Amino acid sequence: MEYRRLGKSGLQVSAVSFGSWVTFGHQISDEVASTLMHQAYDAGINFFDNAEVYAHGKSEEVMGKILKQSGWPRDRFVLSSKVFWGGSHPNQAGLSRKHVVEACHAALKRLQVDYLDLYFCHRPDKNTPIEETVFTMDSLIRQGKVLYWGTSEWEAADIVEAHAVARQFNLIPPTMEQPQYNMFHRERVEREYRNLYERFGLGTTIWSPLASGLLTGKYNQGAPGGTRTDLPDMQWLKEMLTGEGAEKKIGKVIPLANLAKELGMTLPQLAIAWCLKNTKVSTVILGASKPEQLAENMKAIEFTDKLQPEILQAIEEILDNHPGFPSFG
Ligand code: NDP
Repeated sequence: MEYRRLGKSGLQVSAVSFGSWVTFGHQISDEVASTLMHQAYDAGINFFDNAEVYAHGKSEEVMGKILKQSGWPRDRFVLSSKVFWGGSHPNQAGLSRKHVVEACHAALKRLQVDYLDLYFCHRPDKNTPIEETVFTMDSLIRQGKVLYWGTSEWEAADIVEAHAVARQFNLIPPTMEQPQYNMFHRERVEREYRNLYERFGLGTTIWSPLASGLLTGKYNQGAPGGTRTDLPDMQWLKEMLTGEGAEKKIGKVIPLANLAKELGMTLPQLAIAWCLKNTKVSTVILGASKPEQLAENMKAIEFTDKLQPEILQAIEEILDNHPGFPSFG
């Protein structure tokens, strides 16, 4: 396994990590969840991603039980949660001091740990002053309940503001962002955040490297069944992956799959290796509902060397991007 520093922080995360959205406590049984966690850990994955909203807290409960039963030393894994969508009542959501503190306590309980390594503000909250959130995250860190805090899908300007508040009041600034990043969704990581890497040493834990399955090719002829899009609460995703908007992307998936084949890898491996080529990516969070998927995806690390400049250029041509992409470096 390759390990990368989370931005300029001293923390090392495995280049690929494992997340539980849709799957844990929902799509898959607890036994399969346990098999996947062990498979990941045994391969050297040290970062496991979770959130209060995943399966309404059940995802954290399942992961907490697996961690407890595993007996893995606490210094061998990095665990996250995210706060924002806790419930539908006032004060059960957002980034107010009350919700952030209560959500943190609830996550610690469900995950059965004394502290979270990473704690993310899952979305920006326009109804809470950034000062309130930065002060709260700083105090959770000083209490030892959180080690590093970060954001997810925040605009660059809001991250800059959080740093300004931290500097003004001598508080601990955010360390990392969790943005979507894949061949079809790159603007934020490659352009919007480009000044933040040098300026703040921002780390990134990127999500949906396979665009939720589109970059596996299995949605080329509509939804195949046996996937996350079967779930009643995921019909919005089914529409995104198979509806009109997906057609143009599927037209690119086919040549990408051919290129992957020529290179001796699968399309998911090409898509994940491509994310890993971006040095601003600290870790690529993998999702999997089956051990075969996880095994295939983890192998992507071995293929990054095959993505030489001419191959990256061929990918750009298939993706038909504006000149200037990619901005890897
Ligand atoms: P991906 O885009 O990689 O999608 C993973 C899903 O694709 C799997 O669960 C599986 O779904 C399918 N799949 C995976 N590998 C293969 C394969 N080799 N062949 C065929 N199908 C495959 O990632 P996710 O969207 O799951 O996101 C990963 C993690 O990122 C999440 O678990 C979560 O931790 C984090 N995340 C964070 C968000 C945020 O807002 N901060 C938002 C979303 C995710 P299926 O069962 O359908 O086959």
